[in-house]
Amino acid sequence: MNKRIKIRSDERPDKLIFLLIAVVMILSMLFVSCSLGKRMDEKDGSENKTFIVASFYVMYDFAAKIGGDKVKVVNLLPSGSDPHSWEPSPKDIIKIENADIFIYNGAGMENWVHKVLNSIENKDLIVLETSKGINLLKGIHSHEYENEKQEHEDYQEPDKGYQNEDGEKHKEDELSELYDPHVWLDPMLAKMQMKAIADTLVEFDPHNADYYRNNFERYSKELDKLDEEYKEAISNFVKKDIVVSHEAFGYLCSAYGLNQIGISGLDAEAEPTASRMVEVANFVKKNNISVIFFDNMVSPRVAQTIADATGAKVGILNPIASLSQKEIEEGKDYFVIMRENLESLKKALGNDDNG
Ligand SMILES: [Zn+2]
Repeated sequence: MNKRIKIRSDERPDKLIFLLIAVVMILSMLFVSCSLGKRMDEKDGSENKTFIVASFYVMYDFAAKIGGDKVKVVNLLPSGSDPHSWEPSPKDIIKIENADIFIYNGAGMENWVHKVLNSIENKDLIVLETSKGINLLKGIHSHEYENEKQEHEDYQEPDKGYQNEDGEKHKEDELSELYDPHVWLDPMLAKMQMKAIADTLVEFDPHNADYYRNNFERYSKELDKLDEEYKEAISNFVKKDIVVSHEAFGYLCSAYGLNQIGISGLDAEAEPTASRMVEVANFVKKNNISVIFFDNMVSPRVAQTIADATGAKVGILNPIASLSQKEIEEGKDYFVIMRENLESLKKALGNDDNG
């Protein structure tokens, strides 16, 4: 656009006016496309779609299922990372800053959330803690918790966005005791989380309310079906105890009458003490446990050690918090992995495979 326009004295004035109009038109077109480009950049390339940032895989999966093609969802947690210890980078925080809706699990899963949300300047950001309103199971008291409590003492609930009615009470409870955050592994609680996502989308984008409600209905039925499959299979199990390296299956066990024995506790990366290892190994021998479960995110070392000491095998139960690149490429999602987990449970506890 730097082309110089020379006006020769012999040029007719109407030609000059035409040129000026053309220049103005081209300049304004450039301006419009520049600002569009900026907007598309801010919205991560998806203009007109609601931009959702989710804290880890299962939140991403639920948001994508309810939002369908009306939303663009970004999963903050890199593939294969441990959501218990991960912290967002400045780049991740910019994504939250530019989002329409930020979706997280809560209940102590994402330790970084309160600090990051307090630093966010986007006053229009809608924040959804999907475990709000769910009756949380108490976790096992850990030493790390005292520090965590200290850190959160000056925490103030950000005064913006979506709030459930019981929000205040829940937050207080969360600070006074450590809860088990892995609610989504009970399909009926996953349904409550999807409902919270649907309600938030309906409120934010009422124009597409029916679309979100229909998606919720569809996945609600899928969750009922999954629940039935679990109930039917587990009702036939003779054994009810599962030994897991990462204590992520409290809600699943509670829903279907199983009993979880954790080696390391709630945090996937926590190391068990030697006395805990001995205790669990004794339990395994005494109760004739045939499979020690570990999850896809942590090394099987701890589970393998107990298996070696007791003659048990190792197996995988996936907490669906972070999928591997391979699982994503294979098109796996919450439902696929929940059914894989059920197959693993059948092998460990079902009538066919133990004697
Ligand atoms: Zn976990």
